[in-house]
Amino acid sequence: MKALVYRGPGNKVVEDRPKPELQAPGDAIVQITKTTICGTDLHILKGDVATCAPGRILGHEGVGVIDSVGAGVTAFRPGDHVLISCISACGKCEYCRRGMYSHCTTGGWVLGNEIDGTQAEYVRIPHADTSLYSIPQGADEEALVMLSDILPTGFECGVLNGKVAPGSTVAIVGAGPIGLAALLTAPFYSPAEIIMIDLDDNRLEVARRFGATQTVNNGDGTAVKKVKALTGGRGVDTAMEAVGLPSTFMLCQDLVAPGGIIANIGVHGSKVDLHLESLWSRNIAITTRLVDTVTTPMLLKTVHSKKLKPKLLITHRFRFGQILDAYDTFAHAASTRALKVIIEA
Ligand SMILES: [Zn+2]
Ligand SMILES: [Zn+2]
Repeated sequence: MKALVYRGPGNKVVEDRPKPELQAPGDAIVQITKTTICGTDLHILKGDVATCAPGRILGHEGVGVIDSVGAGVTAFRPGDHVLISCISACGKCEYCRRGMYSHCTTGGWVLGNEIDGTQAEYVRIPHADTSLYSIPQGADEEALVMLSDILPTGFECGVLNGKVAPGSTVAIVGAGPIGLAALLTAPFYSPAEIIMIDLDDNRLEVARRFGATQTVNNGDGTAVKKVKALTGGRGVDTAMEAVGLPSTFMLCQDLVAPGGIIANIGVHGSKVDLHLESLWSRNIAITTRLVDTVTTPMLLKTVHSKKLKPKLLITHRFRFGQILDAYDTFAHAASTRALKVIIEA
């Protein structure tokens, strides 16, 4: 089968690889029908993710059809259409029993990281019963690819951890796919204001179309002043960090109102200064989280009922044979205006 393989920092190739085989009774082999590229894949290609060794097939998102299942799999049969979660969960360990699938002792974020991933014709999914989701008949499978990672990530790490509440004020720093996923799911809790902050006017325009009440381009470094002006001098109740840079996390520290929450979503590769000298007395909280995908069943229902329209995030489509072009398009988002790209097997 064809697969996109990480060959060390800055190096990826399409290779012929053997079709994966069942290794444990709980495994399933899934034939991929649609997959996508994540910002995290670009982090791996920069050499930022030490757990991902050269030779690894990348990708942790996608939908497909069950090809075969191990003897221990009871929830799925060959031919079933399934959504693949970016997080594999045994459902039985101490962390899984607490709903913290991301820290499953024999799973977590392993796909396209510690084991071969979804940017291939077939993928082996461990703990299939508790790591795959049935796709309802008639569902738009392309839209559901957004549920493998980015929608639960924006929702769980940003909206839930940030305790977005009716009438509250929210700032989302970073209007990339993850920030936009948080923007799409924040209205579940009816905040009064959602202020989107980015450096790219195109992405801010997208954010306005997606429901941001205000947008701020921080190219001139005046976002704090502008957000304070929009919030009666207070700042925001929830400041979501959806970039993963020291400067954007520091911006959140300046944006958060007394009693507010800084909800980190971004993947950070370097240390960040924490300004406790100004924050210690402000009753704030800081949260971090790796997505657990514990809200995926709920999000599936909201997509099915059209309350949530994740297809808005898809800007480009490619065949698997064009996956290197898909990477180029996704990596140069400022010029290509790419948000999420769909790669069809
Ligand atoms: Zn991802
Ligand atoms: Zn577990």
